[in-house]
Formats: sequence, structure tokens, C-alpha cells
Amino acid sequence: MMFGRRAFLQFAAGAVGGTLLSPLPWKLADDSAIWSQNWSWRPSPERGPITKKATICTLCEGGCGIRARLVNGNRAVLLEGNPEHPINRGGICPLAASGLQFLYAPYRITQPIKQTQKRGEASGFKPIPWDEAMSELLDKLVNLRTGGTPHAVACITGQGQGSMRDLWQQFFDAYGSPNFFQMPSHSDSLKLAAFLTLGKEEPLAFALEKASYILSFGSDLIGGWGSPGRMLALWGDWNAAQSENKTPSAKIIQIESRCSMSAAKADRWIPIIPGSEAALALGIAHVMVKENLYDTSYVATNVFGFEDWTDSQGKARQGFKSFLLASENSLEEASRRTGLEPAKIVELAKDFATQPNAVAVWGKSRDLPEKVHHELAFLALNVLKGNLKSQGMISLAPSVPLGPMPQVLADEVAQQGLARKSLDQVKAQDIPLSRKSLYGFLKNLSEAPSYPIEVLMIHEANPAYSLPGNQVFQKAIQKVGWVVSFSSYMDETSLQADIILPNHTAFERYDDVIGVPGLPQAYYAVAAPILPPQWNTRHSGDVLLQMSKNMGGSVADALPWKSYDAFLQDRVKGLAASGRGAVAQTSARQLQETPEGASPKANYKDGADLWKKLASGQCWYDAPQNPLQLVQSPSGKIELAFQSLQSKELEAGKDEQCLPNFSSIALSGNEKEYPLTLVSYQALFLSHGYLPNPPFMTKTLWDFILRNDDSFVELHPETARSLGLDEGNRAVLKTPAGECIVRVHLFPGARLDVIYMPQGLGHKAYDQYIQSKGANPNELLEVQMDPVSGLGTAWAARAQLRRA
Ligand code: SF4
Repeated sequence: MMFGRRAFLQFAAGAVGGTLLSPLPWKLADDSAIWSQNWSWRPSPERGPITKKATICTLCEGGCGIRARLVNGNRAVLLEGNPEHPINRGGICPLAASGLQFLYAPYRITQPIKQTQKRGEASGFKPIPWDEAMSELLDKLVNLRTGGTPHAVACITGQGQGSMRDLWQQFFDAYGSPNFFQMPSHSDSLKLAAFLTLGKEEPLAFALEKASYILSFGSDLIGGWGSPGRMLALWGDWNAAQSENKTPSAKIIQIESRCSMSAAKADRWIPIIPGSEAALALGIAHVMVKENLYDTSYVATNVFGFEDWTDSQGKARQGFKSFLLASENSLEEASRRTGLEPAKIVELAKDFATQPNAVAVWGKSRDLPEKVHHELAFLALNVLKGNLKSQGMISLAPSVPLGPMPQVLADEVAQQGLARKSLDQVKAQDIPLSRKSLYGFLKNLSEAPSYPIEVLMIHEANPAYSLPGNQVFQKAIQKVGWVVSFSSYMDETSLQADIILPNHTAFERYDDVIGVPGLPQAYYAVAAPILPPQWNTRHSGDVLLQMSKNMGGSVADALPWKSYDAFLQDRVKGLAASGRGAVAQTSARQLQETPEGASPKANYKDGADLWKKLASGQCWYDAPQNPLQLVQSPSGKIELAFQSLQSKELEAGKDEQCLPNFSSIALSGNEKEYPLTLVSYQALFLSHGYLPNPPFMTKTLWDFILRNDDSFVELHPETARSLGLDEGNRAVLKTPAGECIVRVHLFPGARLDVIYMPQGLGHKAYDQYIQSKGANPNELLEVQMDPVSGLGTAWAARAQLRRA
């Protein structure tokens, strides 16, 4: 059955409630309804008046506006996109369309529970009252402070950039532990690229709404890059313009080894050797420089380190231009690294250089940092195009002037705890821009930690499942004295906990969204609950505030709010006091059309008024900024030779260390034993992070992705033939990290000798509708530490595949 570009977009953006041009989604919805009739927990609402409540979706960081349809005001029966919201403009992704299954799920933890047997025994959890659970946690935290070891407390929280992250950080600063970690994210390494190039460690933003030519280096533009809601709305625009033969419509060139959904829907797919995207970026840059196709006047005026330069000691240093023109970065070398004909690289370079509003975007996954030098190669290509300027294609996302957190006056115990190195940093290494690394923390903890972790708190994160190379978490947790989970669900990580203090789900609590990944405008929104809590759960923010209050002293002073809602209202009051920005109102495109520097006139009276507007599902926004006015690099210019990157290698005269460059990742394992490469990919139709794939989404999977309980890997027909495998065969997939059973799907869009496996299946926890469905590639992948940042990067592993 054909599932064309229009049908796909209609399905994804309009989801179940939208106008669908293909009968396929209806069939899937119908199948789902039949299938779900056997669920004891299926929603069977009583009849009654229907109302709608607008709010913001926080199932991912996309910042979309949604509306819940309620029966009798107390039963949610549908989530749909809010057509008045400027990010998603009425669209909704499959995850949010299925989102009510998280609210009414049978695998929810409905009250505090405590492990009474050994960790990992699901049947060992027994209910305990909230007061008892809270005082057990409080006793442990107080005792560790009394014993002078507050640094023995650690926390892993999810990727969210909302105020909950700031509240955790405030708590750890006041309590006295440096061991606060977030799940890894692409923005970790992207911000470092911004720091080295512009001198500001802030998120990069891309003005894709005005792009006419997009060179996408492996970014799954319709599969979850940046804000999926924004990208789906944009694809809808481009598609409509193209089919109606109107301009502007962006031409999209998708560069990646696999024919992903984005590649199939792009104007052109350029298949390359997996992992060589940054080499192609440098190859294109080489051609632009060699043939004088770059923006010469922009580079001459605004860029440092393009030409060779002299450092403060008078030493001659190599610039980006001579590095690019050196033999190790020749066109032939780029061709060898990427598997592309030189003529094709030249053609891409000429197209990119000559098209107006052309931009290069990159990032294979929202969840994984990339090598910093590779981030810099993609950014350098945009610098050569002159994209970082007033009204340009790339800027820094403006900050949101929320009310500040109170100053932490750390007491003596806290000062001593904070003086300890965090557990990821205790080993002496030459990591020039070392950043908090969850991998580093877990690795050190699992090996020989220099001090023990007595209490580990885990909030909205499921590292036991979703961290590539997740075996490191399993090993590390054995070394932890006591594990507290704040999860709403019995996920793989909660199973390992000693006690679970369940959070409300996303639709039962207040939360906020600070900025949208990749969006040039400042953005802030408040997610208000659509219903009161359905069970005996508590907002983790309220638990943290209560805990701080009971501790008293400087900890209580640092977190003075009565409730999490009050904390958010305080932040919004500060935002209103700044007088900046406005609330987006009726026009769905108002936000995107705001020009740089033209801050909209405030349309709220005060903090209370702004809160009221935000809590009703509207969002605050402000104008984009001119990156050239923000530069704070050592040279005062955009740098292509990074003076902030000091390392031993650099001191030894290896100038390429402070230039954008490419190095292929040397995967471990014997090439003879593991002749293939396993590449894992993320897709919009499979949830792969903290939240599992809800049963509705699983039901909509093609039977060449999941059949019964086996997940499929994609293999080129020729590769399959050479291995004696055919469509649907069961096979053993093995990497140096582990092995699993899969089925084979023959896919001509796969590269020879590469195995592609989706993220999001293979759960071992939750319930019968989620667990044991397929295999989890995170158990097979290899993680390598980036030498610049110490962040864990992962995209592949050497592999073998044989008939089961
Ligand atoms: S893209 Fe993210 S924020 Fe938007 S509707 Fe989907 S899950 Fe929610």
C-alpha cells in the first residue's frame, strides 16, 4: 500500500482526530479499537457534556499546544493539536495522540511503594503511606549531611529544560552535592560548539521557516529533530507549497546512509557511509574555499581563524582555510571517507553556496551528544555561507527572563560537599572542556568509585532502558546504597529502586517549557493539568520542596516556596516584571513572523495576568537575536580556530585540534568476527525515551517492524543473500556488547553491510502490552567518550548476524 508524503503528513500532523486522506490510519484506528476491546482498563466514558481544555504538551520538549476533550469535565477522551498554538499549528504527533494511555495506564504506580525483597523483584514492592516514605528519605538525607557526606547523594533527571531541572539544581547546591546529572542530549554538544565558535554556551537556533534549501546531515527532519511539532507543521507548509506549485518551498537534501522517512520524502537523498556526515561537511567546505564559493566579505569581516594566525606567544598557527586545502582534507579524501563521487560533492557545494537562504542542519538524535569536532564542522559550513548574521539562518536561542532563583547561601556542610569533585570528574584526564557526563558518572561508579553513593534519586528518566550501552547503569546501581525513583510508571529503572514516590503524570500537574529546541524565538509556556490527580501521587517538585522545608536552615531558605505551582507563579511574575515579550494570541504564525530585534509589545498587565494567560494554554514569546551582537569569543569574532580549546595536544603543536575536523569512530571488536555495522535509528512512530511506546502506537507499527514479539532489523537484500537470510527469517544479532533475536526485513534503502534497528522496542518492564515486544538496541551499542567534552557519544557497533 502506498503511504505517500501527503498521507504521512496528514496522519502525523492531524493524527487520529484529523482529516485523513489515506484510509490507512482509519484502518489502524479501527484495528486498535477492536484490539483494545479486551483491555480491562479501556476508557469507557459515561455520556455527558463535552468541554475542551487547552494546555501544553510536555511528553517531549517540543512545546506544542494541545487541547483535551473532556466528558463531564472529569474524563479525558481525546488529545488533539491546538490550531491556535504557533509551534505545532493544530498538528499533533503520534505520541501525544496516544498520550491519554499514559494517564489511564494500568502500569501506573498509584501510591508510594517500597521494596521488601531484593532489588529488581517486582512482586517485592508493597504500599506505604506518603508520610512514612517521605520521612524515610528525609532521615537518610539528614543523616548524610550530619555525617559530613552530602556528596554521597546523587540525582539523575530527564532531559527536560523546564523549571523542575532548576529546582533540582538549587536543591543540590543548597544540600551540598556536586552529583546532579541529566540524561544526555544533543544540545549538550551543540551548546559547546556555540561556545567555541561564538563564546556563548547557549542553544543554536535555525530559522527554517525562511529556508529555501536545507542540507540535512542525518537529521530526521520529520522524525523528531528539534521540535517534532514545529517540524511537522513546517513539512506541511513545504508540501502544500510544492503541490500547489507556489513559492517558497524549501528544497531538502537528506544526507544519511539509510533511506529514512525524511530521506524518502526529501527532494534528494544522498546515501553515504554511516558516521561520515561531518567528513562530507568538510568536503563541501573544501570545495567552497577552493573555488571561492564562500561568502568572502562576511568571512573577512566577521571571522577569526580562517586565515593562518599568530598566537599570543608569537607562534604561527594554522587557520581553517589552509587546513581545508591541505592534502588530508582533499576532495579525494572526502570522497574516500564518505563513499560519494567527488563530482557529487562538488555539485552539493555549488548548490549550497549559490542558493539563497540555504542552511545546513545536523544531529542524528535529540538524545545523543555528537563529537564536538563534528558539531564544529557542520557549524563551520554555515559560517562559510555567512549564515550567522543579522536576519541570518542561524542564531542563538534567546534566554527567557524568568524570575531568578534565590541566592544559595551554602552552609559549611554544603560547602564541603560541593568542594568534592563530582564522581564523573574524579579521574585525571585531559578533557579540555569537560562537562557533566552521566556516562562518566556511571562508569566511575560501576568500577572503583573514589567515594560511595549512598542515595541515588531518579526523576523522569529511565537509564536502565534508554541509555545506549545501558549495561553500565545496571553495574553502577549495584554500588548504590539506596535508590529512590520518582517515576509514575513501573519502568525498568523503577524496578531497581528501593522506594518509589510516584509523580503525577504530565496531564495531572503544572510544568513549564523554557525554549523550544532549534527555535530562533524566545519561548515560554506553562502546562496546566487537564484533570486533577487520578491516584495517590504527588508532584515531585512538591516532594522536593517539602523535603527542603523539613531540613530547615540554608536548604529551606534556598527553596522557600509552599508548592511547585507557587514556584512557577513566582518565575512567571519575574518574567512579567522584565516587561519583555508578549503572549501569542490568535494568529498561529505570529511568533515565527516576529523579526529580529522587534520585541513585541507586552500584552499582559502583570504577573497574575500573564500566569492566567499561560495557564490557559497560550505561550509567551520574544524576538530572535542577531548572533553577531552576541559574540563573546576571545577574538571578539566568530571563531573557526578555537582559542578557548586548550589541550595538551594543542600545546604539542597539533593545530587541527583547535579547528573543525573529522575523525571516524574506531568501533571495538574484531572485523572478521563482526563484519557488519549495527546502526540504530529513531522514528516518530516509536517512543524511545523515558516514556515507552503506548499500546496504540505499537498497534500502528507495520508488520515489518514488529511481528508478534519479534522486532525486525533492516538489511540490504544483497547483504541478506550473502548471509543466507531472507525476508522474515529469525536471526541472532550479536555485537561485542550483547546479542538478541531479531527478524530480517529486506530493505533496498539500507546500505550494504549495515544493519538498521529502531529504538523504542524491547522493554522488560511495564505491562503485557509493552514488555517483551522486540529487542532494545541500547543493549548492543557502543558508547565512546568525546575527547573534548567527556560526553558519551554512541551511534553504532560492529555486528554479526546469523540465522537463529
Ligand atoms: S512533538 Fe512532543 S510536545 Fe509536540 S505533541 Fe508530540 S510529544 Fe507533545
